[in-house]
Amino acid sequence: MEIEVKEKNDNEMIFVLNDIDVEFANAIRRIGMMEVPKLTIEYVSIIKNDSSMFNEVLAHRLGLIPIVSDNKTIESLIPNEDCDCKDDENNTRGYCSKCSVSFSLTKSTPGIVYSKDLHSNDPEIKPVYDTIPILKLKEDQEVELEAVAIIGKGKEHAKWMPTTVCTYKQYPVITFNDKEELSNDVVEACPNNILKLNRKKKPTLQNIENCTLCKACVRASENDAIDVSHEKNKIIFKIETDGSMTPKEVLLSACDVLNSKADKFIEFF
Ligand code: SF4
Ligand SMILES: [Zn+2]
Repeated sequence: MEIEVKEKNDNEMIFVLNDIDVEFANAIRRIGMMEVPKLTIEYVSIIKNDSSMFNEVLAHRLGLIPIVSDNKTIESLIPNEDCDCKDDENNTRGYCSKCSVSFSLTKSTPGIVYSKDLHSNDPEIKPVYDTIPILKLKEDQEVELEAVAIIGKGKEHAKWMPTTVCTYKQYPVITFNDKEELSNDVVEACPNNILKLNRKKKPTLQNIENCTLCKACVRASENDAIDVSHEKNKIIFKIETDGSMTPKEVLLSACDVLNSKADKFIEFF
């Protein structure tokens, strides 16, 4: 299998996979969304909340704030379900410092309370973005709370999904019928400006990877001048994250999870 990265930044990666089965790409997609471990706020203890926001809504909002969940963070914590504090009768909270990160938020000045006001006991583990609004305080109002983040997976709750987009499509193949002329109507039918006519009125393609295989061009062509299909074993994959980890970390973690599933399968037989 060959991988060619087309676009990459901190939150988004588009890459082309050559010589790959759709089933394998789909397994990576599903694991990328559902089984890659991520740190998210799970427990909230509200000590004071004078704002007009209900405690339940406030707790829900806190759970949706992306927290830094890079490899270093994930490796420094034990997943809550595997931690021995679960079996400790003296631990009534259900978490401990080995499997959780505590945050506190105290604010008494009027204005908007932002994600940057959440402070953890580890300065490197913090909300990814500073400016996510949480609630608004008026004059003489206060909010004080403690929150605890643990590692979880998207299959338990969507707040643990690191990906906001994790998708693939088969690589488009667009062919022209040399015996027929491609009309302007067909060119204009494409919503992604893939089709162009050159000076000699010959059809050309640009940014073919943006083709969504919608076949609007084929439907607009009355003389079968164009055909759209896809390559069987070539796939365009896109991963976009909420910033808690990079797309590359999601991909590598998904491959690790798939690998361990395959190992279990082999061991069984
Ligand atoms: S299939 Fe859709 S996106 Fe692709 S070239 Fe035709 S109209 Fe454009
Ligand atoms: Zn624990």
